Amino acid sequence: MKKIANYINGALVEPKSGKYFDNIDPSTGKVYSLIPDSDASDIDEAVEAAHKAFPEWSGMSIEKRSKFIIKLSEGIEKRMDEFVKAESLDNGKPIALAAQVDIPRAVSNFHFFATAIIHFASESHAMEGQGINYTTRKPIGVVGCISPWNLPLYLFSWKIAPALASGNCVIAKPSEVTPYTAYLLSEVAQEIGLPPGVLNIIHGTGPSAGDAIVKHPSIKAISFTGGTQTGAYISRTAGPMFKKLSLELGGKNPNIIFADCDFDDMLSTTIRSSFANQGQICLCGSRIFVERPIYEKFKTAFVEKVSRMKNLAPSDPKSKQGAVVSKGHMEKVLSYIELAKEEGGQILCGGKREVLPAPHNEGYFIQPTVIEGLKYDCRTNQEEIFGPVVTIMPFDTEEEVLMMANSTQYGLSATIWTSNLKRAHRVADQVQAGIVWVNSWLVRDLRTPFGGIKASGVGREGGWEALKFFTEPKNIFIKQ
Ligand code: NAD
Repeated sequence: MKKIANYINGALVEPKSGKYFDNIDPSTGKVYSLIPDSDASDIDEAVEAAHKAFPEWSGMSIEKRSKFIIKLSEGIEKRMDEFVKAESLDNGKPIALAAQVDIPRAVSNFHFFATAIIHFASESHAMEGQGINYTTRKPIGVVGCISPWNLPLYLFSWKIAPALASGNCVIAKPSEVTPYTAYLLSEVAQEIGLPPGVLNIIHGTGPSAGDAIVKHPSIKAISFTGGTQTGAYISRTAGPMFKKLSLELGGKNPNIIFADCDFDDMLSTTIRSSFANQGQICLCGSRIFVERPIYEKFKTAFVEKVSRMKNLAPSDPKSKQGAVVSKGHMEKVLSYIELAKEEGGQILCGGKREVLPAPHNEGYFIQPTVIEGLKYDCRTNQEEIFGPVVTIMPFDTEEEVLMMANSTQYGLSATIWTSNLKRAHRVADQVQAGIVWVNSWLVRDLRTPFGGIKASGVGREGGWEALKFFTEPKNIFIKQ
């Protein structure tokens, strides 16, 4: 059985405890590799290596550092096929999605931040007749990056790339549910000759390896993406240690559809924004609000299309709906479908676990599910489900839909469909979200700020925001 290794001080090593746990293929329910069960002693060793590497890495010319990060990008690209297959196998996502989104976007993240750092400049503020302020931005030192399972390498690189580009040394932990492409990344780091200690990738559970990163006194910043409860725990723990925190957390995104939208464009995009990656993208719209004049038309067309979506093995190139990530997650999503029924919801399509032919007969497949008849404030419409489940609800006025859209504790993203420009601006301005798409979904420009408000997070990733997070500004005033 293949054993995944930790990557510490440039070497691929076993966890100090010698313990491993199972890595399961969600499309078969079978164990296919072993994951190091790392603990605080592995994190201590990685931090020591990172400290040793920091002076040279942070003191290196930006051009030289940038070249290393470009090589990481190219190293993944060279092994594209292997990364794509590994991501699909580990996560259960359709191979076509890993090939079109996950791995190419991870390549782009490294490339983007390798070049962005060359153009990253600090500010100066002249004071008429008095002097000048100039601001320097220095790397923080050793930083921690902790990521979730839904877009494993993509979100891992979204943190590691800006952290490294701005001169920090990194202790990174991928989700224990999907560690494989992070392991492949450590092989690439070795292949390209990244100096030892600059990047350390430790595998293990949240309460053990993750917690040790959060609590380590020498790790001065934590960039975290994951659930809101975990984010709250990290805040409580790292806050009193005065660590810099960037928290990208859960969501319950509204998709607001007005009667004057381009119906066909809206319909095909709404299928994707509801069910891409089995609904396990933090930006998926799980609450669909439809203006009453087109509610019945939408419901008929949407349910007809969703009913035709079939779960297929993730490795099948035709697959558009794979498996959800784990047994525990499948059970959680199915329990929310039961809750929806108890709350008075009608299942318009889906609603059940799907059993595929062998060898996928024990895989974690859930039929894409559409529910109607629920009130906006019931638990199904307030809590994050993070699976292939959406609710549809009619609305009559802008005020009403904004009230319902803004009623959850979350505020990550929102989608608005209308051909009325004034209304698009008005609703986009009032909807409580960090990211809004009008007549589109998941269009990403790496220069733009990424993140949510309310319980969806603190801080922003992307572009200059990420480089600012991973650097410490110092203002210096000189009298004229
Ligand atoms: P999770 O919070 O369970 O785990 C995320 C990471 O944190 C994992 O690496 C895990 O090992 C680690 N972790 C868990 N407990 C920890 C602890 N006590 N100390 C330190 N680390 C700990 O989340 P998940 O189930 O992996 O991911 C799904 C969640 O991520 C969903 O809520 C989803 O909305 C969210 N998400 C948010 C964004 C965003 O950009 N806002 C993007 C993707 C996913």
